[in-house]
Amino acid sequence: MKKHRLQKPEFRLQALPACDHKSHFKTEAEALEAADLRMLDNMTLTIGIYACPICSHWHLTRVKEARQ
Ligand SMILES: [Zn+2]
Repeated sequence: MKKHRLQKPEFRLQALPACDHKSHFKTEAEALEAADLRMLDNMTLTIGIYACPICSHWHLTRVKEARQ
C-alpha cells in the first residue's frame, strides 16, 4: 500500500498555458523579478513562473489560490 503524503507545492500547474509571446523572459531571475513586480502591483495576485517547452523561455502565469 502506498502512503500518500500530503505535499503542498506553492505552484501547481494542471497544464501549461499556451505559449505567451507577450511576456517571456530569457532567464528565471528576470521572470521572478517580473512576477514580483506584478504581485506588488496587485496584491491579490499570485504569479508563478514556468519554463516554456515551446520557446524555451520563461513565462508568467497566474496562480489561483484555493482559499476558503
Ligand atoms: Zn513560450
